[in-house]
This record gives sequence, C-alpha cells and structure tokens, in this order.
Amino acid sequence: MTVRRLDSETVERIAAGEVVTRPASVVKELVENSLDAGAGSVTVEVDGDGTERLKVADDGHGMSEADAELAVDHHTTSKLSGSDDIERVSTLGFRGEALPSVAAVATLDVTTNDGGPRGTRVLVEDGETTTSPAGRATGTTVEVRELFHNRPARRKSLSNTEFGRISDVVSRYALVRPDVRFRLRHDGRDVFSTPGSGSYTDAVLGVYDRTVAGQSTTFDHEAAVEIDGDEHSLTVEGLLVYPSVTRSRRDHVHAAVNGRVVGNAGLKRAVVSGYGTLLPSGRDPIAVVSVSLSPALVDANVHPSKDEVAFADGDAVESAVEEAVHEALTTADLRQSGEVAM
Ligand code: ADP
Ligand code: MG
Repeated sequence: MTVRRLDSETVERIAAGEVVTRPASVVKELVENSLDAGAGSVTVEVDGDGTERLKVADDGHGMSEADAELAVDHHTTSKLSGSDDIERVSTLGFRGEALPSVAAVATLDVTTNDGGPRGTRVLVEDGETTTSPAGRATGTTVEVRELFHNRPARRKSLSNTEFGRISDVVSRYALVRPDVRFRLRHDGRDVFSTPGSGSYTDAVLGVYDRTVAGQSTTFDHEAAVEIDGDEHSLTVEGLLVYPSVTRSRRDHVHAAVNGRVVGNAGLKRAVVSGYGTLLPSGRDPIAVVSVSLSPALVDANVHPSKDEVAFADGDAVESAVEEAVHEALTTADLRQSGEVAM
C-alpha cells in the first residue's frame, strides 16, 4: 500500500460532490448568491427534474467582467477577506465554492451586469471558460445545463421527486425572506410567487393558500440570552399558523437563522414545543420562524451544504424560540375568540 497525494483535479471533483449533491442543492446555492447580492426579486425556472436546465435570475448588484471571470474559479469570493471574517459571516455564502463546483459537473452560463452600459457573459463548458459581452439589466442570471452529464450514476439516482425538493428550497427562502419577491416556474408554468411586500402573511399566501394564511398570526419577539456570562439580544419573528390547520410532516416548520434557511432539528422541536398541547397529537404545525442574533454566536461552517448551523448555546436559543412561539399563540388565542380577519 502506498499513500499518495491526490492531484488537484481529483480534489476538486471530490469537493464538488459535497456541495452539489443534486439539482435542489444547486438551486439553493444560486438563490443564496442572489440574496447575498441584495436582490429584491429572484426568479427560478426549472425544466423537468432540473438536470437538463435550471436558471436563477436576480436583480441584485451583479458583477463586473473581471469579477464574473474570477467568480467561477475555486475559492474566489467577495464575501470574506481574511480568516477572522469567518467568525462573523453575515452572508449566506463565504467559501467561494458553489459556482466552480457547479461548473465541474455541468455547463455553467452566467450573464451579469453591475450597472454598467453593458453586461458580461461567462460560459464554462467542459472546463473551457469563454467571456463575451452581453445585454442585460443590472443583476445576474445563472443558467445550469446538463447537470451531472459526467456523473451518470448521480444523474440516474435522482428520482421523480426532485422538483419537489427544489420547490421546497425556493418555498423556504420565499417564506423566511418576505421582503424579496420570489417566483418559481416549472416546465414553463408558474408554480408560485410571492410579492416581496415584507409581510409574512403575503409570503404564506403565495406559497400556501388563503386558508393557511387566513388562520395565522405574525409575531415579533425580543429576548435576552446569557451566553458565557454575557448578555446578548436575540429576536425571533415570523408567522404561526393556528393549530386548527396542521400537516402530518414536520417539514412545514420553516426555520431561519440570520436569514439562512436551516434544518436544525432542535430549533424545529422548540417551535413544536411552543405550540405545546394546542397541537392535536401526531400533527405538526405550519410555521415560519426566523431567528436573528449576533453572527459571532452562530457557526454556519459546520457542513459543506451549510444546512445546519451550530450555536454557542443552542439551549438558550431554543428556549427563546419556544417562549416566543408560546407567547404569540397565547396572545393570538385571545384575539381569535373574535372574527379572524382575512
Ligand atoms: P460564495 O457565495 O461562497 O462567495 P460562489 O461560488 O457561490 O461563492 O460565488 C462566488 C462569487 O461570485 C461570490 O462571492 C460573488 O461575488 C459572485 N456572485 C455569485 N453569484 C452572484 C450573483 N447572483 N450576483 C452577484 N454576484 C454573484
Ligand atoms: Mg455562494
């Protein structure tokens, strides 16, 4: 047996597999880039299961020609400047790995304009990068084609539920970012859209329906948590659907930490605990819960997919969430005894 160092191309292919596991993970990375670019509007278009073609277009700040060329390289990011920054990331991205990872397993077609008289198109196909001028208003469009063309096993392993996963990713961001207009299209048809009004109720109306949105209350709760002897303030806000409208699966609890959609089971459990006995047994609530706290107390760098975050004190955060939910529902219950306006 001989231990050998892998060549850089192999290292890149291994790393790409961790970030880009499926079409839905590509959509997640692209949507996060759009939000980091300050987009007020994000449109996602998908053909089929997303492997043939998927596209994310935004009206964010865009990229200059030089930045667009750099962005498709490895470990190039505009979001971190030194290793200290990683302790307090406030952007959704920070590793500079998404675009090159996508380019390693697909054709990547980026059109962008940072507000200049003309835009830039950067096309990465089979490892070749070509840059050309392009017409486009300020913002960025990223189109991904032939995803996993060089990974037949990965492509085959995708099931016909793939679009559901993509819809899930876009829905969750649309719900936790009601200030941004989202639109999801599949095979040329509108799936849902939200108005970007800033209202959680409007976002829920777009993603769910009138029944769900009509049976809900928004809330905004501020708490002080003590972590390592220091007092920190934390806010929990969002929307709670009344326990009369439930779902049988827990994934209708949409949680975000500092604007990042997260899958933390502890947080979701805290939301369910906040509903407590109001919830019929075996049922799960529909809720949007967005937690904001100092970035220094959150570590988003725990997994390549960034689906989970680690807290300096998870218990403190979870009890603040549980209390916020409980308090909001108790107050809402009083109001609910009258007519529910909608
Ligand atoms: P990261 O998001 O970790 O920085 P990415 O590979 O996702 O890495 O993106 C690389 C860089 O490309 C980003 O830092 C950003 O400067 C630029 N970029 C990517 N997508 C967009 C976008 N939609 N709008 C503006 N800039 C973008
Ligand atoms: Mg990114």
